[in-house]
Amino acid sequence: MTERHVTAHTLTLGVIGNPVGHSLSPQLQNALLSRLGVNGCYHAFEVKPNELEKAVRGASALGFLGLNVTVPFKEQVVPLCDDITHEAEALGAVNTLLFKDGRIVGTTTDPLGFLKPLEARGFELPDKTVVVLGAGGAARAVIFACAERGVAEIRLLNRTHDKAVRLVRRFRSLFPGVRIEAYPLLEWGSVSNALENADLIVNATSAGMWPHLERSPLPESVSLPRDALAYDLVYNPLRTRFLQQAEENGLAIQDGLDMLIYQAIASVEFWLSRQLGDWHGLARELRPGLERALEWSSGPPWSVTGKGKDK
Ligand code: NDP
Repeated sequence: MTERHVTAHTLTLGVIGNPVGHSLSPQLQNALLSRLGVNGCYHAFEVKPNELEKAVRGASALGFLGLNVTVPFKEQVVPLCDDITHEAEALGAVNTLLFKDGRIVGTTTDPLGFLKPLEARGFELPDKTVVVLGAGGAARAVIFACAERGVAEIRLLNRTHDKAVRLVRRFRSLFPGVRIEAYPLLEWGSVSNALENADLIVNATSAGMWPHLERSPLPESVSLPRDALAYDLVYNPLRTRFLQQAEENGLAIQDGLDMLIYQAIASVEFWLSRQLGDWHGLARELRPGLERALEWSSGPPWSVTGKGKDK
């Protein structure tokens, strides 16, 4: 890691959210900037719910290069953008802002962040059947990414079934060529049907996230298709109950930490408007430091406030 000196030319970046005391992004992004030799500094800013606009316009006025946006502001920030990318428009959410020529440009790096770990392990999405558990912001990013990459079928299951049905309607109109169906998550038979012959099973719920380590979005007794890949977006803990269930059924697994790293790399590319080259190499270099932070904390005490949950 190269030594950095803060000067009048140091680029200012950060994440806004509430809470953010728990966020791994400052460690991740500063390590990335340092690795790339970029003279930049990345901070975490906890913004009061009614001060989002002030915070964003203030950052723009102060000459920040950009911001990441996390819970609960990913949707609320959309109307503050002068331009948004196609992905952000489709998801109705923004997780990265660029301040450029007096304009606020929004995008979302979650879909690419989700796809890159699959690419790294050689998992091909075209014509596959994907089960998505959850119907929140992360699930939308997963559905969008999978549909764009040409999967044959997406089966969506959510605890609150109506939300899944609404998402299905929205994505069917965006991707008429992809078969998209909603299945109730709380009915055993429906879960078994949805899992049949699946190639990829994605947990995009927060079930199993610290401190609810024993929770899984799936019933304990359900059997999973052995040839599928189980992908959990949760990264704290790295080995969730869902991934343990998958391993017990003989499935290959993917945790959520790589997605976190790749969406960070995508944000930096967006801010710098230049290609960063070997993403997979960068991700491999960045991962051990984050694993250590997670291990060392065994919970979220990277939170200085102690009230954080997850990214
Ligand atoms: P949201 O709050 O938007 O959605 C939460 C989802 O989880 C809803 O579908 C909710 O169901 C479901 N859920 C919550 N608790 C349970 C439970 N006990 N059993 C079943 N379903 C449950 O959150 P996000 O979509 O933004 O995030 C979801 C997860 O993805 C989080 O853990 C987050 O940290 C992770 N994530 C990881 C990223 C990464 O880079 N690795 C990036 C983005 C998110 P209902 O609708 O019924 O409430």
